[in-house]
Amino acid sequence: AAKEEGKDRGLLYQPAMELEQLRLQAMRERIAQALQQSRLQLLFQPIVYIDGLPGLNGVAGMEALLRLDDTGQELIEPGKFMHVLDDPQLARPIGRYVLDEALKCCQSWMRAGVSIPVSINISTRHLLHPAFFTDIDAVLETYPDVMDVGFGIEVTETGPSMDHARAKTVIEECRRRGIRVGLDDFGTGSASLSHIQQLDIEHIKLDQSFVRDILSDERNMAIAAGVITTARMLAKTVIAEGVETAEQGDLLASLGCHQLQGFSISRPMPAATVPEWVACWVPPVSWGNLVNERQS
Ligand code: C2E
Ligand code: MG
Ligand code: MG
Ligand code: MG
Repeated sequence: AAKEEGKDRGLLYQPAMELEQLRLQAMRERIAQALQQSRLQLLFQPIVYIDGLPGLNGVAGMEALLRLDDTGQELIEPGKFMHVLDDPQLARPIGRYVLDEALKCCQSWMRAGVSIPVSINISTRHLLHPAFFTDIDAVLETYPDVMDVGFGIEVTETGPSMDHARAKTVIEECRRRGIRVGLDDFGTGSASLSHIQQLDIEHIKLDQSFVRDILSDERNMAIAAGVITTARMLAKTVIAEGVETAEQGDLLASLGCHQLQGFSISRPMPAATVPEWVACWVPPVSWGNLVNERQS
């Protein structure tokens, strides 16, 4: 009976699998075409300082986020094409597009009198590609001024796995060029703060899943507090992502988080809007008070 059952399930299961394969393949084609026809775009989401105003107007930088402009209507978010970002054939061309576009935008902000660092997300596939530093050096040569304001990459633990020695070499190569390296989605993978320390990673981004219900879930609050405290002791910068409300921001500020990013500060925006946004940004008064309380 079990065998029969398995057979039946197999019949139902297989077409669904094939459908999924076709859907993934179709999206891959769409992205490949969009890349050729310049229909990939970047939006930029600000990262802001909590304590003091060390950056330009309190803005620590802008993170480039990829969008597919395919329908002429709403831009499509990477959630729909995550698998393509680590595709063996497409990871590098997509990565090169993002590198070039992000640094170009950063340079145009500088020309508009707004010098703020830019950061981009790098797929592990591109990071581990033998030509990764060829691509990096090419853009650094094209947009040399960007290094004066700051350029950072965000890496995750998803995609092909990377051994410790390889990770160390890659990070050293970045550092040698003055590129900041951060670990994205911290807390969701297996990386520990001790890895971060050994690998000389400059900052971590506390994953949104801890931030989302930080006010209602004591365990997530405890994790966030622990990560922030330990990271501070190790002299690492902590950025909280996915901050959707002022209350979440206030709590993270009181826990000693260094920088915040999320919809409550700003949704991702087109590059052209960035200089004006930076000029208008004013950090909430509550953050300053919370930081002072912590320090006294
Ligand atoms: P990520 O790097 O962790 O980026 C944060 C994601 O959270 C972004 O989604 C951003 O729009 C979203 N977000 C920001 N603030 C909030 C908030 O307050 N609430 C909520 N609910 N969401 C918020 P997005 O742009 O859809 O990107 C998703 C992921 O796709 C990124 O996660 C990153 O891993 C990847 N990605 C984005 N752009 C690129 C790229 O150019 N290259 C590569 N390789 N991956 C990228
Ligand atoms: Mg990121
Ligand atoms: Mg993240
Ligand atoms: Mg993410």
